[in-house]
Amino acid sequence: MTARVLVVDDLEPNVKLLEAKLRAEYFDVLGAYSGEEAIELAAKEKPDIILLDVMMPGMDGFETCRRLKSDPETMHIPVVMVTALDQQADRVTGLEAGADDFLTKPVEDLALFARVRSMTRLKMMTDELRARYATGKDLGIVGQIDTDIRPSERRIFIIDDNEDQAARMIAVIGDDVNEVIHETDPEAALGRVRVGEFDLILVNMSLEAMDPLRLCSSIRSFEETRLTPILAIVRHGDTRKLVRALDIGVNDYVTRPVDRNELTARITTQLRRKLYVDQLRSSFQVSLEMAVTDQLTGLYNRRYLASHLSAMFDRACWTGRPLSIMILDIDHFKTINDTHGHDVGDKVLRDFADRISNSVRGIDLACRYGGEEFLIAMPDTDMAFAAVVAERLRSEVAEHKFDVLKGRESLEVTVSIGLASTELGLEGDSAQKLIKRADDALYEAKSAGRNRVMNSAA
Ligand code: GH3
Ligand code: MG
Ligand code: MG
Repeated sequence: MTARVLVVDDLEPNVKLLEAKLRAEYFDVLGAYSGEEAIELAAKEKPDIILLDVMMPGMDGFETCRRLKSDPETMHIPVVMVTALDQQADRVTGLEAGADDFLTKPVEDLALFARVRSMTRLKMMTDELRARYATGKDLGIVGQIDTDIRPSERRIFIIDDNEDQAARMIAVIGDDVNEVIHETDPEAALGRVRVGEFDLILVNMSLEAMDPLRLCSSIRSFEETRLTPILAIVRHGDTRKLVRALDIGVNDYVTRPVDRNELTARITTQLRRKLYVDQLRSSFQVSLEMAVTDQLTGLYNRRYLASHLSAMFDRACWTGRPLSIMILDIDHFKTINDTHGHDVGDKVLRDFADRISNSVRGIDLACRYGGEEFLIAMPDTDMAFAAVVAERLRSEVAEHKFDVLKGRESLEVTVSIGLASTELGLEGDSAQKLIKRADDALYEAKSAGRNRVMNSAA
């Protein structure tokens, strides 16, 4: 896995040193010599990770980080602060400025590479979501994401066989918004994580009953917790275990003895990122639904039909069960528009779609095929049964007027329907040909005087 790393330091030798180390591991490296330059390069070059010196003349690392993290264009890029001083207060200030982690000068190679690898891997996951979200936004089907996220209620799960340590952590993080649940038995914990809907999981990396690395990798492998942040609690100086943990996909860590401010700051960072990812995911879900839904009627649109009907057809071939489709076209719809206006026309289309939805089965696919044309695909349905359904729909439409203008008027509407089925043999047939036959039958229904059902066999 390669990644673009932006190294920021006011001293050129420091930049060159990190650059050489990272290049040797085949990372792509950019250098910047001030906070201002870093911000400019970050926006322009979109690096995968930023290594940021804390002490710089002018804009220092904290302020640079704060600005990077408040700009929607760069907020998702992980920032690792590189500091000469291993001061607890600095770490907390950095975390509060939005930093994702720290490295202390002189930078230890193992820790550096593990950090860069794990952060870029996590970023790639969100990049994919961000890309989909951007598409949805370009298409105008999803709104702005809330970047200033203030979570309401969070559930935090602690897996720790050290009761005292767990109790101390609960005392620090448990409050009105954080519900903290504790489990001492790792086996039991594995069951609980899958159903607990936790926002964050804390794991003591010195667990006795199970290899904590195995525990973390199991949590990563479950579908339910694949993206749930894991915070590891590691013994100070246990770099080897830490590196392994980061490689497995642990998001972040604190060292023991646990500093309460650092713990709180790191938890806040993880929870904020999870909310961001959740928002991206749900907005993608919305955009996906909108992309296949007709906005006026709420039925599936033609785009969805195109892919789904082929799948239905393949299934019919494979199971040997008949597939029938009907195309419905409202009669003289243009007259409704011309006489009562486009809005009234829209209302009729919506009501018509509702009547369709109410008369089809869950497995049927109903979609808006064109302006006032609809298509229903019915798996496991032969022509005879499809004709019954079509006739029921036709008479329902013809016999019950459509209320428009808030019930002040009601209109008589009729519909013509063309039917086709696969039951005459699937050899040489296709979804496209099925549609063509239904369309031809519809044309015949129109020619024969409208308000009727015709099938392609006739
Ligand atoms: P026929 O019985 O032969 O089907 O006649 P028709 O008037 O229903 O058919 P035609 O295809 O000539 O006209 C369809 C009309 O549907 C024309 C178009 O303006 C209107 N239409 C298409 N989409 C919409 C829409 O979303 N809303 C409204 N109100 N009208 C629409
Ligand atoms: Mg029509
Ligand atoms: Mg038409």
